[in-house]
Amino acid sequence: MLFRQLFDKTSSTFTYLIASSEGREALIIDPVLEDVNKYILLLKGLNLKLVKVIDTHIHADHISGIAELRDRTNCVTIMGDKTTADIVSMQVSDGELIEIDGLELRALFTPGHTSESFSFVMNDRVFTGDTLLIGGTGRTDFQNGDPLDSYNSIFNKLLKLKDNILVYPAHDYRGNTVSTILKEKKFNPRLQVKSSTEYVDIMNNLNLPNPKLMDVAIPKNLKMGVDLNIQKMNNGIEAHSFKICLEESNILLIDIREQCEINKIGKIKNSITVSFPEINEYLQVNKIKLKDKKIFFYCAIGQRSALAIKTSKTLGYKNCQHLIGGIKEWINVGFNLAR
Ligand code: FE
Repeated sequence: MLFRQLFDKTSSTFTYLIASSEGREALIIDPVLEDVNKYILLLKGLNLKLVKVIDTHIHADHISGIAELRDRTNCVTIMGDKTTADIVSMQVSDGELIEIDGLELRALFTPGHTSESFSFVMNDRVFTGDTLLIGGTGRTDFQNGDPLDSYNSIFNKLLKLKDNILVYPAHDYRGNTVSTILKEKKFNPRLQVKSSTEYVDIMNNLNLPNPKLMDVAIPKNLKMGVDLNIQKMNNGIEAHSFKICLEESNILLIDIREQCEINKIGKIKNSITVSFPEINEYLQVNKIKLKDKKIFFYCAIGQRSALAIKTSKTLGYKNCQHLIGGIKEWINVGFNLAR
């Protein structure tokens, strides 16, 4: 495995690059917009293909780099499934696995700093976002933060991990880079409390000023998704018309979600699965075979399928369309799913 911890000085944010040494697939956690060029150069230098990018939560102190990375590398954007806005192309539930060839990260719902915060556990390490910091814990006074949730996430989830698990947070303001669960248990001043009430009391009396960028960063970070107009412009079709199209002959319906998403909610009848990271290669290899087919893509909310249309156009396909709003919209209008 290849691992890099990167630091953005302006916002004191840690960004993590993880990659498999075999397939050269890479994943980035908590990218910062201003540093996207740096990541792209690093990926190139290491001969890596970025396939997934994760935000642990909606950041208030910097603008996320997920949308820029998606647009420049065609990667899948991921957050936990408690985020209400359609910001990312794939949402994961508590306990679900995120895979890049041979490597696995387990999503862990750890609300408190914000109501939609997730941590991600991988073998010997955990990426804690702002839930657990080195010698501190993420503030809980905005974005539906809740000190009792923070207590439960830390004491009943994160501190239940093995003592030697490495702790990699999303920020540090004092020059620390990594800790362990045991060190935090023993030395993190916020965690030396006798009860949840005592912790809640500390958190409710921090009286911190708001982050400088808060009024800019939160609204921007909530709008990272591919919006419906862009989905429409990229050969998008509304659910009702999409269903009618599927009755035509000589069509191919491709579900470009990951298997775990399909297992969770089902799929549209008669669709084949080619996950988004594989779609480019699939369309290249099968170009002659698919020459006369009408191809229809769909995904979770229409973001990946809009990008798949772009890919198909680049490869010279002229007969591709996709479902606006994805399977979420298909369900909203009351259409059936197959298991
Ligand atoms: Fe935060």
